[in-house]
Amino acid sequence: MSKRLFNFCAGPAALPEAVLQQAREELLDWQGKGLSVMEMSHRSDEFVGIAERAEQDLRDLLAIPNNYKVLFLQGGASQQFAQIPLNLLPEGGRADYIDTGIWSAKAIEESSRFGNVHVAASAKGHDYFAIPGQNDWQLSGDAAYVHYTPNETIGGLEFNWVPEVSAPLVADMSSNILSRPLDVSKFGLIYAGAQKNIGPSGLVVVIVREDLLGRARASCPTMLDYAVAAKNGSMYNTPPTFAWYLSGLIFQWLKQQGGLEGMKRVNDAKQRKLYAAIDASGLYSNPINVADRSWMNVPFRLADDRLDKPFLAGAEERGLLNLKGHRSVGGMRASIYNAVPEAAVDALVAYMAEFEKQHG
Ligand SMILES: *Cc1c(COP(=O)(O)O)cnc(C)c1O
Repeated sequence: MSKRLFNFCAGPAALPEAVLQQAREELLDWQGKGLSVMEMSHRSDEFVGIAERAEQDLRDLLAIPNNYKVLFLQGGASQQFAQIPLNLLPEGGRADYIDTGIWSAKAIEESSRFGNVHVAASAKGHDYFAIPGQNDWQLSGDAAYVHYTPNETIGGLEFNWVPEVSAPLVADMSSNILSRPLDVSKFGLIYAGAQKNIGPSGLVVVIVREDLLGRARASCPTMLDYAVAAKNGSMYNTPPTFAWYLSGLIFQWLKQQGGLEGMKRVNDAKQRKLYAAIDASGLYSNPINVADRSWMNVPFRLADDRLDKPFLAGAEERGLLNLKGHRSVGGMRASIYNAVPEAAVDALVAYMAEFEKQHG
């Protein structure tokens, strides 16, 4: 008998059980074809059908306008940190970046290898506990694009607003894409590593406005040129077929959950319960400005960090996995992505209360 516990991992993260069941059923013999998806040619009618359906379902979920391409690429979100300037930042040009934490800092560091990167605003002045309002941003007049990180997976900060900028807006949505409805038309480019809220690792999804294609530097490797990927249906070379297929199953599952409106309702309920439990307690705390708290990644500390170990041990005994905070910040972190059910948050909140009664 296999058992499924509650998994709060930040990434690779929990996947919906129904999707894993379906993948298991189809693993040896996909839809009577006598082979698994992993063994199919990416050029076969079968796989092209899987790939096209996945793209269409993602387009439906996010209501992606027709003048955007959807690319299924490799290299993770981290490769996008370089791929974006190689495609969008002309030699000698300037790009604006907003610094809200560890992931935006990584994007800033990598893009700085390719041109003039101007940090137009930073949460540093708020110790990374609050997002600077747009009135405090110092945008350049001539930026090729403005990059920001709508959800800081480690710090637990999330924008609940979309910046209004005149340059194309570029967003790293690795940890909050598909968590609620989004107006894609406000963006030039959106990217997301799959292993948080889309599917398994090995895939990064890029949604890019068509007029931003074809601007890559002459020195840009062919494999990193968005226009090449778009022209070849993300199959210039062999794509990560199994990750693409599984992501497609998750898009179908999201539609069955009522799409992104449905996810928003559940995710809102989950985050309310968890932050309410933290705020009401004398033992747990979360330092983030309330309006900027992440719905997906909830870091919290215990008043005495000597209690961290027993807290984690007790959690594991109760089947609550991967609550240890990122090594750079310590404490705890509960990642409550789409595939983490409300029952998982209920179980966590109940355990937190029980632990506080014993140790508070
Ligand atoms: C996880 C994460 C990344 C890195 O993703 P990889 O796919 O491992 O490169 C980048 N940005 C954010 C916001 C993340 O959460």
